[in-house]
Amino acid sequence: MSKELAKKIKAEALRLGFTLAGITTPETPPHISTYQNWLDAGRHGSMTYLENERARSRRNNPRLILPECQSILLLAVPYPDPKTATAKPEQGTGKVASYAWNEDYHLLLPEKMKAIVTFIEGEEGHSIPNRWYTDTGPILERDLAQRAGLGWIGKNTCLINPQHGSYFFLAEILLGIELPSDEAINADHCGTCTRCIEACPTQAILPNRTLDANRCISYLTIENKGEIAEELRPKIGAWIFGCDICQMICPWNRFASPVTEAKIDPHPNLITELDLTPQEFNKKFKNNPVKRAKRRGYLRNVAVALGNVGDPAAIPALEKALNDIEPLVRDHARWALDRIKSKRI
Ligand code: SF4
Repeated sequence: MSKELAKKIKAEALRLGFTLAGITTPETPPHISTYQNWLDAGRHGSMTYLENERARSRRNNPRLILPECQSILLLAVPYPDPKTATAKPEQGTGKVASYAWNEDYHLLLPEKMKAIVTFIEGEEGHSIPNRWYTDTGPILERDLAQRAGLGWIGKNTCLINPQHGSYFFLAEILLGIELPSDEAINADHCGTCTRCIEACPTQAILPNRTLDANRCISYLTIENKGEIAEELRPKIGAWIFGCDICQMICPWNRFASPVTEAKIDPHPNLITELDLTPQEFNKKFKNNPVKRAKRRGYLRNVAVALGNVGDPAAIPALEKALNDIEPLVRDHARWALDRIKSKRI
């Protein structure tokens, strides 16, 4: 087991722009039973791809992904701290979660992951079995990242690093070489704090460091492809893609992420967004995470936000949306109109 090689790999990862790098083994992740109980309780909403036997068994045993795996390199790459947005939210603007302010990380990270593998193979002088994921495969990455010493899992379910907070993506490379593991962060630095639990508008944060996806604004506005339950709509406020509340409230994020760049407007005008044609939507969000919601999901969210903002100036745009090509958009525009009009009576 080469300590020297592990040191060089981590230094290379930092040189490539990763903020954190740590190593763990492919043994079963420590909180696998919490995860399995979460699935069994149906807290994953409509994300049924999580529950099949293949996905379950791979999360339990990373060697089913790569039989030669002896070590897993966990990596973190930062995304913007929402408080660094130059334009602040105003009446009539929506809010986009900060992880989506720039190009889709699924497009950005593969090049860096390949560069690390090439570096390791160059150091070893031969090819090495490997497999990498950027939130794209059946692996419990937060749990493994905790065991690799990158942070602890906070009550808001995010991986939190004592120096860097929680505004980062995780990625991992399974490697067919043995490397020394880093020390896990087992201490719970949340202590008696419960700020995120109290701040969550939909009470989605459960006591055992899991989320009820069925109530989580991120899930409701991104992964959920259908309608948003009426009783939850008023609680979503102006969030139109994801939500940062449980991270913004966390005291560990006072150590701001060094990333301040935003390639899209984090606070777009809601009336303008509701008017996006399919072509305009595809062009605007071509390489951006927002495209995951598809136009119908995004405009559904925009309609809900307009209903919550309650500005009568949105009535003509919402009336136009009653004729949208998507029934989902029409239904949520109807709800928003009723909400705005009922407030005027
Ligand atoms: Fe932990 Fe408090 Fe941060 Fe929630 S807000 S994750 S309880 S430190």
